[in-house]
Amino acid sequence: MSDGSGFPALDATGLDQAAGRLQEAGVRLVIGSMVNAAGITLAKSVPLARLGSFHRAGMGAAPVWHVFCIDGGIAFTDSISAVGDLRLRIDPNGLRSLGGSLAWAPADMFLQDGSRDPACTRGTLARVQERAANAGYRAVVGHELEFVLVAADGRALDDAPWAPYGLTGLLDREQFLAELLAAMDDSGVQVEQLHAEYGRNQFEISLAPREPLDAADTVVLAKTIVGRVARAHKLQASFSPAPFPGSVGNGAHQHFSFSRGGAPLFSGGAGPYGITEQGGAAIGGIIQGLPEVQGVLTGSILSGIRLAPGAWSGAFLCWGLENREASVRFVQGGAGNPHGASVEVKVIDPSANVYLASAAILALALEGIASGSRLPDEVAGDPSRLTAAEREAAGIGTVSDSPAAIITALDNSAYARRLLGNEVVDATVAVRRHEQETHGARDPKELAALFRLAWSI
Ligand code: GLU
Ligand code: MG
Repeated sequence: MSDGSGFPALDATGLDQAAGRLQEAGVRLVIGSMVNAAGITLAKSVPLARLGSFHRAGMGAAPVWHVFCIDGGIAFTDSISAVGDLRLRIDPNGLRSLGGSLAWAPADMFLQDGSRDPACTRGTLARVQERAANAGYRAVVGHELEFVLVAADGRALDDAPWAPYGLTGLLDREQFLAELLAAMDDSGVQVEQLHAEYGRNQFEISLAPREPLDAADTVVLAKTIVGRVARAHKLQASFSPAPFPGSVGNGAHQHFSFSRGGAPLFSGGAGPYGITEQGGAAIGGIIQGLPEVQGVLTGSILSGIRLAPGAWSGAFLCWGLENREASVRFVQGGAGNPHGASVEVKVIDPSANVYLASAAILALALEGIASGSRLPDEVAGDPSRLTAAEREAAGIGTVSDSPAAIITALDNSAYARRLLGNEVVDATVAVRRHEQETHGARDPKELAALFRLAWSI
């Protein structure tokens, strides 16, 4: 049952019960957050007694929320000005206690007449997920969160020894990580694994696969928890794509798997590694369409710095089994991977709006299936070991690392506009052009320092 808002109906009793449970747990304040076109998380909060109002009527939010920029500027568009008011409404199905006196829920933007705001990015993903369901497909998404621990003011921590994927990093941060896991557990976030990453003071958390909207909500919740626990340790977590240029960046990889009528599309078929015809078409659709939607995957002024070959950021536009240089890494199912086969879209970084990034990939996969896309030939080795001529002969392109080109491609793409809607594309183009126009002349080091905490919560 739906009340027309897209939220499953939760009656007054259900809300009262939720409020009662939270009160018993000591909650006083309920936060509702949204993620805007620049990938920034914005929020309002209400006393617990106003939980019902936050869901039903929502709290006021100006349309410019969509286009607040990473430097505090506002990127007005033809349709987003200082005039008007929107309603930020929480989805009580995502309500979670954060411990202490706080609870959190994901929120959507609605117009005052009660209809969804077409510029709402969570609404965009909800629509694409519904499109998939109507076509008979179920998708699940597993997110990986990479972040670099920095001092509370954003500066680099001391240069203690760092072993990539080392046990040292885990032990050095034992207390932080233990509290982080406890907080995730208390808020119902299922962590699958946690490790010290390649970059100095870089960590990664893998989240359990869930349906796309739920999975994206969980990313926002998990980032919020990382931010809280980091603060308790007088630290901050940088979710910048390039926190320290010259070293590896932070990715925001998303693993997608699809099924139809319970049957997986990436195994049990006649294609390579058991990929079914539809699974192959989904991969083809993602690779072919990726350059047009790259602006919602790696669109920020810092994103291009990360996309260097050799940095495992998936800079080559191809797919391959366990290929970490491919934009789309195929992961086979089996004893070592009980979740089953998936495709990992490695190119995405954490400056992206997580809802739009999932919506774009899911929409490309669905279009690939609907149009019968062909599975491109697999790229088995590391493409950076080939010469440019060899890559060209094999048809292996690279994704763009130019912020201007990436955003112009998105702006000019009728395809991206059809899949995602003009409103979210226009807002994305506006905030990213603002970044380029205002900060394009800065060198990478300066840019990285300025925006190291821009996407932190
Ligand atoms: N940090 C790399 C990135 O920017 C990914 C490393 C890995 O393969 O996990 O995407
Ligand atoms: Mg990683």
